[in-house]
Amino acid sequence: MTFPFVYQSAPSRVIFGAGCMTQLADELEILGCKRVLILSTPFQKGDADRLASDIGPLAAGVFAGATMHTPLAVTDQALAAFDAAGADGIVSIGGGSTIGLGKAMSWRNKAPHLVVATTYAGSEVTDILGQTENGVKTTIRNPAIRPETVLYDANLTLGLPIPMSVSSGLNAIAHAIEGLYAQDRNPVTSLMAVEAIRALKDALPRIINAPRDIDARSDALYGSWLCGVVLGSVGMSLHHKLCHTLGGMLNLPHAETHAILLPHTAAFNAVAAHDALAPATALFGGDLGGGLHDFATALGAPLALRDLGVTAADLEKAADQAVKNPYWNPRDITRASIMDLLTPALNGTRPRAF
Ligand code: NAD
Repeated sequence: MTFPFVYQSAPSRVIFGAGCMTQLADELEILGCKRVLILSTPFQKGDADRLASDIGPLAAGVFAGATMHTPLAVTDQALAAFDAAGADGIVSIGGGSTIGLGKAMSWRNKAPHLVVATTYAGSEVTDILGQTENGVKTTIRNPAIRPETVLYDANLTLGLPIPMSVSSGLNAIAHAIEGLYAQDRNPVTSLMAVEAIRALKDALPRIINAPRDIDARSDALYGSWLCGVVLGSVGMSLHHKLCHTLGGMLNLPHAETHAILLPHTAAFNAVAAHDALAPATALFGGDLGGGLHDFATALGAPLALRDLGVTAADLEKAADQAVKNPYWNPRDITRASIMDLLTPALNGTRPRAF
């Protein structure tokens, strides 16, 4: 056990279970909402429309314009739609992009925010909001950003395509791995992180074998919830820093970037955070970086940054950026060590033990 520590529980209400969408109207009543604006991406407009028809007069309308990186201009449009519809609450149905829009709106207009989570990104239970204006991304962290209620209904994830399920699941595992060695970790977040990794490691191969296996989908949502709680409770380190740096610089797909970098950042930090990572290392056969790489390979996950269009020259720029304003990390970083870490990630080779 590591003392001293601070533990503060995060007050969100989560409802789990296949079919729990039928409880949506009751949950909105608990929040005091009478007319909600429903948010989605254009791709999930059908889900949003179905949800609106399920709750009848509780739906004030659908805004299906959510997009990646939460641009301020889209938030302004959605807030105008909220006012025009006379709404008093926000329902986000989707993944991190839609949830980001809901967070940005409720941060500004203070309306209650309920999320129906349909990916494994974990944003629905964090106090973190990333938004962009003129291509510049800023991040705000405040307890008021955390949505009040989350519904996890595995029925809504049955159609999440396998590649997205795999990358999103690995994105979630990255939150838990970094949570295990976070400077401000505590025994409760560590318990959650290990349980989250266990649940996702077990669920993802079952989802590949049977994408409509409701138990496997439910287990994956359970793991991703715990990963999200960990992300929303402690600070993140080198892995998230590198994903943000590369992702922001080159506009890379979010979940895939996490999936590719995770084995390499884990291998790098395993040296310095050996004890904190021990339960995760055991789950991956005694070699965390190598084990994660083998797991990702077996899942058919993207392995090489090169396949996302990244070049060796891009890595040099990313390494420059990463050492400029580093997040706290259990192992000291230098430009050379970042290049040692990123080069196998560029090519998708198995990370060596550092
Ligand atoms: P996403 O929300 O961008 O979704 C990707 C696509 O998949 C979208 O078109 C979406 O509509 C579709 N989709 C979602 N669920 C589906 C389902 N069940 N079936 C079919 N299609 C579905 O992807 P994401 O990975 O969940 O979110 C990524 C974004 O979230 C990034 O911008 C990232 O920065 C942010 N994020 C934020 C936090 C936070 O705490 N603030 C945490 C994690 C991720």
